[in-house]
Amino acid sequence: MSAFDQRDGVIWFNGELIPWTDARVHLLTHALHYGSAVFEGMRAYDGEIFKLTEHNQRLLESAEMLDFTIPYSVAELDKAAREVMSANHLADAYIRPLAWRGSEQMGVSAQKTTINVAVAAWNWGAYFDPAARARGLKLTFAKYRRPDPMTAPVHSKAAGLYMICTIEKHRAEREGYADAMMLDWRGQVAECTGANIFFVKDGIIYTPTADCFLDGITRRTVIGLAKQRGWQVIEKPIMPEEMSDFTECFVTGTAAEVMPVGSIGDYAFEVGDITRTLMDDYAALVRPARSVAAAG
Ligand code: PMP
Repeated sequence: MSAFDQRDGVIWFNGELIPWTDARVHLLTHALHYGSAVFEGMRAYDGEIFKLTEHNQRLLESAEMLDFTIPYSVAELDKAAREVMSANHLADAYIRPLAWRGSEQMGVSAQKTTINVAVAAWNWGAYFDPAARARGLKLTFAKYRRPDPMTAPVHSKAAGLYMICTIEKHRAEREGYADAMMLDWRGQVAECTGANIFFVKDGIIYTPTADCFLDGITRRTVIGLAKQRGWQVIEKPIMPEEMSDFTECFVTGTAAEVMPVGSIGDYAFEVGDITRTLMDDYAALVRPARSVAAAG
């Protein structure tokens, strides 16, 4: 695959579909220097973008948390994502909306910058090695922690919040792990570098309260799926030592989907029935047409 700036296709750029290779920004773009950018990541299955409106709503909210207003409505952004899908002839894809401060002003103050918005989409297969579906991902502990809400706009999907995620993901990969599990500023279990985390003990599902990290759309979807099965889901602070009592562990995210975890450092988990059922339920939910066809 060629580099991401050299592909064929079109990108929605400030309201227009333009050739992929023309979707450029100048070196003196505020977002590049000061992290004034927010983004989304969605997946389309069989031509349908899963939770499209929820993602675009979150994009608008993420921007407000960074003190800027996106000059498009959710409905306009939904339409843009659909246009990008069809113009690029995509059916199964990852869609990346991005909003960022432009180049009219340089410095910490950015009151006069325009707000730019683009939507790109491409084929993106499994986020984690599919072999881990059977044996579970091998995770390590991250050194950096999710920041205190008094320190950063933690509920925004802001580009700047990924700085520590990339550092930790690289360290994990160098040491032979699939990803790193991050604690929060208090030392409680938080999430992975691009996915939320769940545990199982005695048939009950536990997940950390999303009070200082992204409350993922997949996280909320999977909580709903578990409740539909009549399973109890408890959101609570989880200390790392509690992991020795948990028997199953899985992560959730738009890119990651639902993936079992085999180990986090020295803590080992089995790929159990609850994890497997939720993987299947999620796979069926994102491709409703196929599940209907299979049932009928
Ligand atoms: N946490 C982080 C840090 C993420 O990057 C993601 C992926 N967007 C998630 C959690 C999961 O969010 P979602 O389910 O909305 O994709």
